[in-house]
Amino acid sequence: MKNGQEESGKLIVITAPSGAGKTTIVHHLLNTIDELAFSVSATSRAPRPHEEDGRDYYFLSFDEFSRRIEAGDFLEWEEVYENQFYGTLKSELERIWALGKHIIFDIDVKGALNIQSHYPGRCLTIFVKPPSKEILFDRLRKRRTESAASLKKRISRAEEELTYEPYFDDTLINDVLEIALTEAEQKVNAFLNLPVVPEWKQK
Ligand code: ADP
Ligand code: 5GP
Repeated sequence: MKNGQEESGKLIVITAPSGAGKTTIVHHLLNTIDELAFSVSATSRAPRPHEEDGRDYYFLSFDEFSRRIEAGDFLEWEEVYENQFYGTLKSELERIWALGKHIIFDIDVKGALNIQSHYPGRCLTIFVKPPSKEILFDRLRKRRTESAASLKKRISRAEEELTYEPYFDDTLINDVLEIALTEAEQKVNAFLNLPVVPEWKQK
């Protein structure tokens, strides 16, 4: 793929409620499809252990995030949880397209709709669906990254987020992880016109 992807680079948007498995699936796609690069979002939330600034997120203070909204630096941003802002910097798209790669996003349902509307025809939106609400909440609890208050916010928001499924191009059910990862790879390869590796060859 050549540089100058501003006109031909594609966008893969993985969206879902918190705990559905977006991060796990996005990591797998980045490990298996060389043509992809991750859109590092900016956030005003604090880093989790093992998260790295510039790799997982650009961690900004609330003031800096607000200043960059004012400056028009974001393609989209959302207050996903009360006082926790997340957004895609315009500079991030330019950075990745300059590398000659397609962009993969891990963003909330409203941000996903926003990206879809900015790039119709070049964008694949995939909604990751947990097998049930109970399993979703259980995964979120077992991940042990959230305080009790944050867990409560995420669970209450998930109810609404689950209703967004029909607005996206495709749904990926994340029940048995191995199957979901294979299906994700197949969907993305097909969209990028890359060879779709048959399931029996992937093991
Ligand atoms: P998200 O990025 O959507 O918030 P994560 O990728 O962090 O979700 O997944 C939430 C938790 O569930 C993580 O601890 C992850 O290891 C686990 N997980 C993801 N997919 C599955 C699955 N199919 N079966 C069991 N656990 C899963
Ligand atoms: P977390 O705090 O679990 O990393 O992310 C919380 C939520 O914010 C997830 O749904 C995640 O996908 C979403 N998110 C992450 N980055 C962005 C972004 O740039 N824009 C929007 N709109 N949502 C984002």
